Amino acid sequence: MKRTAASKSAKKIPARSGKYVYFFGGGKADGNESMKNLLGGKGANLAEMAGHPALRLPVPPGFTITTEVCTYYYANKRSYPKGLREQVAAALAKVEGLMGKKFGDRENPLLVSVRSGARRSMPGMMDTVLNIGLNDVTIEGIIKRTGNPRFAWDSYRRLIMMYADVVMEKAEQRDPAEGKGIRKLMDERLEHLKKQRGYQADTDLAVDDLKQLVAEFKDMVKKYIGRPFPEDPQDQLWGGIGAVFMSWNGKRAVEYRRIEKIPDEWGTAVNVQAMVFGNMGDDSATGVAFTRNPGNGEPHFYGEYLVNAQGEDVVAGIRTPAPINDYSKNPQSEHLPTLEKAMPAIYKQLFEIQKRLEKHYRDMQDIEFTIEKGVLYMLQCRVGKRNGVAAVRMAMDMYKEGLIDAQTAVMRVQPNQLVELLLPMIDPKAEAATTSIAKGLPAGPGGAKGRVVFTSADAVAWAERGEKVVLVREETSPEDVDGMHKAQAILTTKGGMTSHAALVARGWGKCCIVGCSDIEIAADGKSFTTKKGVTIREGDWITLNGTKGLVYEGSLPLVDVDLSTNRWYRDLMKLVDKVRVLKVRTNADTPKDAAKAIEFGAEGIGLFRTEHMFYGEGSDQPLFLLRKMIMSKTLEERRKALAELFPFVKNDIKKTLEAMRGYPVTIRLLDPPLHEFVPHAEDKLAALGAELGIDAAELKKRAESLRENNPMLGHRGVRLGITYPEVTEMQVRAIVEAAAELVKEGKKAFPEIMIPVTCTQAELVDQGKIVDRVYAETLQKFGLKKNQLPIMTGTMIEIPRAALTAGRMAETAEFFSFGTNDLTQMGFGFSRDDIGSFLPHYLERKILPADPFQTIDQEGIGELIRIGIERGRATRPDLKVGICGEHGGDAESVKFCHRVGMNYVSCSPFRVPIARLAAAQAAIEDAHAGRKKPSGTAKR
Ligand code: PEP
Ligand code: MG
Repeated sequence: MKRTAASKSAKKIPARSGKYVYFFGGGKADGNESMKNLLGGKGANLAEMAGHPALRLPVPPGFTITTEVCTYYYANKRSYPKGLREQVAAALAKVEGLMGKKFGDRENPLLVSVRSGARRSMPGMMDTVLNIGLNDVTIEGIIKRTGNPRFAWDSYRRLIMMYADVVMEKAEQRDPAEGKGIRKLMDERLEHLKKQRGYQADTDLAVDDLKQLVAEFKDMVKKYIGRPFPEDPQDQLWGGIGAVFMSWNGKRAVEYRRIEKIPDEWGTAVNVQAMVFGNMGDDSATGVAFTRNPGNGEPHFYGEYLVNAQGEDVVAGIRTPAPINDYSKNPQSEHLPTLEKAMPAIYKQLFEIQKRLEKHYRDMQDIEFTIEKGVLYMLQCRVGKRNGVAAVRMAMDMYKEGLIDAQTAVMRVQPNQLVELLLPMIDPKAEAATTSIAKGLPAGPGGAKGRVVFTSADAVAWAERGEKVVLVREETSPEDVDGMHKAQAILTTKGGMTSHAALVARGWGKCCIVGCSDIEIAADGKSFTTKKGVTIREGDWITLNGTKGLVYEGSLPLVDVDLSTNRWYRDLMKLVDKVRVLKVRTNADTPKDAAKAIEFGAEGIGLFRTEHMFYGEGSDQPLFLLRKMIMSKTLEERRKALAELFPFVKNDIKKTLEAMRGYPVTIRLLDPPLHEFVPHAEDKLAALGAELGIDAAELKKRAESLRENNPMLGHRGVRLGITYPEVTEMQVRAIVEAAAELVKEGKKAFPEIMIPVTCTQAELVDQGKIVDRVYAETLQKFGLKKNQLPIMTGTMIEIPRAALTAGRMAETAEFFSFGTNDLTQMGFGFSRDDIGSFLPHYLERKILPADPFQTIDQEGIGELIRIGIERGRATRPDLKVGICGEHGGDAESVKFCHRVGMNYVSCSPFRVPIARLAAAQAAIEDAHAGRKKPSGTAKR
């Protein structure tokens, strides 16, 4: 919140506006959908559903207390702005009028719910209190009105449980009673009574049992909290409101915000709404549904409901919910009656409402509804979370249905969601050769594997040790988010597709199986046993197929998916490529990577790290020759070794140039310090000596002489070429001759020679002379003209000095490629290889907003980039500019690269689709913001 000059001197920091309460109901609403920042997502959508002329849906009346009040509350020692109480009272009176009931009335009492609702949904992370307004007096009125004492007493015991837990214990930051928390103690009390009476389900509890529980719960409140449960409905209401505000800073909410990068300043709104009851008998129910299938994107109404239950029961995953229609059936629920069969008229009404909602919002909606005695109420709607596969399909289906335009379709998919389409799956051959040990509901797609752990704390601890884990739980709760996040996959034995585990996993695109009733977790929580009798212990490996809901024993191989079979993805990428201006290249060092990247849509190679040919498959011989060159003592020896190495280098480059079919290929000259190529172990060094015919002691001496204190700032990059021009010469000749040979074979080739780790133009001039000479010699040797063998020479910008002197660098360099790994290292003075010891603290304490090696630090390193481009293009207006650090595959950084006018980004093959989508979104965002292209932008 901004402070005004006047308010600075005032004791209290006022909220910005005087209106803190927004009413909705009876076909009207003060707010609307566009007011999410003020009313939170839930409040804004309740207002829209209740008040928009195209909707006016049956929403129980209520009001929203704004997020400004939350900000005020925290800024002013947990107090409320002046006038709030009066506004709440006035809104409550309106609700009473519409409902024909009175809050706290002994004859006809109104009950309300108090719920949180932030700008962005934070499923289950904050608190809710239902049935507020019930006490020893009003309960009589409820019984008289409903003729249903069981329902009344059940609601009362729920209120006391929730209130004691949320308002009296959590919000007051009390240590959990008896180390377990009062809610758990009450649950145990309830279970004990059920056992005593020989009951199976909560619904077996009779009126007298519930009365007894209410009395006992009240005693427990007194005993553990030290003061009585408040009977005054106003006290209950304000207690609930305060507790919701407090829950914004609860441990779960804070953890979730950290993971989801939701700012702490946003605050939550509070929604107070007339209660409607899904637990009034068999003509009542509550449910959750999606206007399309959030798991795969199929355009079918999809959802679950529970008869005679209250809202929270569905999400909590305590009972197996029934399907709303045949399409929503799954193996766990197929025997249960669908809503369509059980209450056909209500289903029809609900079906029409969801159609209207989707059309109105032009997006998939996640809706919550309650049926009270045969009457349907809408309790919530919001844009539904979906996994990546579903996001792509929905965007393209909706585009084809004419619901959204092409730009909206492109904006609908988050670039990182594409990762899920590239998600590994279990190798089909391996999967076919084995049988699953259990089956559950496919809540999060893809394949994943890990060692089994049974608690969130273990998942965190094991993952921190570098173990891959699968978290197995009966059900998850918001307390588990940290462990869920760290786990490779989540497996629960209870709960449906709308349970907490399913919702959270879907949001993260994580492999997840829920409701896997084929397995039972042992009482000691250290193993589980399947119906087939297989026992899996803590630490054992399992593999999950989250697309089909299958669980396998052991560690099965995972493979990459074939994207070409996904037509929605293909169509989306066609739209993407139409709007983006930024080109997308790949960092690839082998012909295989290059081919993969072309499949993903790469338009060239932005970084070919030459040194990689000395590692991995088939590298023995070239590595040996390289070492021979490194260990050479004289120029003559070195030249000889280089001549032997030359054909290997040329061949490797030729294959990659060929794979890229004329797309530009930026080949970087040798970059790492030479010491990196020398074997470290004594015996290996001795073996090399024997092969090279150099005495062991002498070889050791030569190796020692290459050792540096700070090799990243030492003899590397262009400095190698300056001291050993013959090394540059060999590489340039290999590149240009490889291209010349391809041209002679009638193929296209376009190499760009890139000089790394430069800091002054003089280095470029020095190396440029070698390039020019070798190029001229090659043209002559092959009888080619310049236009038949196009090449470019440029440099990486990795050192701040290079960025600052870009105007000079561009006099020689024909292109710049920002090496943002090193530029970040040298700009921050943070060693790339040693950040592990301090960066986590920086992030935890918000000293840095994000890891600058993952996403460009736009403020500092970004400024160096801006300066580099501006000064470079001032000298050479058509300077080609790209990026080849890891940031080239980070969506936010790609958007930045677009805005500063780069020509291309380059990233690892698997991130190419992400970069393409991010580039398209950047272009659309630009157009919407009315931004002009940055000045000096070269033709792209
Ligand atoms: C860079 O520094 O950004 C870069 C791409 O080079 P390397 O990571 O090989 O140092
Ligand atoms: Mg570098």
